[in-house]
Amino acid sequence: MARNLGIAAMAMELMESLLLRKPATVMYPIERLSPPERFRGRLRYDPSECSLCGLCQRDCPADVIKVVRKRVEKEDGTKEMTGHLEFEMDRCVFCGQCAYSCNKGSITFTREFELAQGSRDLFMMKSESANVDDEECDVDTDVVP
Ligand code: SF4
Ligand code: SF4
Repeated sequence: MARNLGIAAMAMELMESLLLRKPATVMYPIERLSPPERFRGRLRYDPSECSLCGLCQRDCPADVIKVVRKRVEKEDGTKEMTGHLEFEMDRCVFCGQCAYSCNKGSITFTREFELAQGSRDLFMMKSESANVDDEECDVDTDVVP
């Protein structure tokens, strides 16, 4: 008898906590939760410090990044490296490896998470890179192998 009363009390307690508990979900999109500080949302590429080294392309497990670079001859006869990065963001798994590999801090992640698009083309990102010193890159190819 005492045992049954104990179980009934526990059941009442559980019912009470379930009824009073705030739901874990929210009425999205009317209500939005803030992603955590280190959330990896939309990728941001800043070409200002990028040396076109190709490490991000080499380490990306999803083959998202293509580093295109070439040497151009200036009027004074000296050569300089120029190029850009291309991102096929529909393949990105947001693992963060590119940002980890980049020693220039050129790749970071925002906390934007509403990234759906109606067309695959809209996931393609292309960014010109600032010209970099020829010495920083040791290959002479158009696309980093
Ligand atoms: S973004 Fe970083 S890792 Fe990628 S090419 Fe530029 S400097 Fe290198
Ligand atoms: S987050 Fe991962 S999958 Fe996405 S571009 Fe960077 S390395 Fe590639």
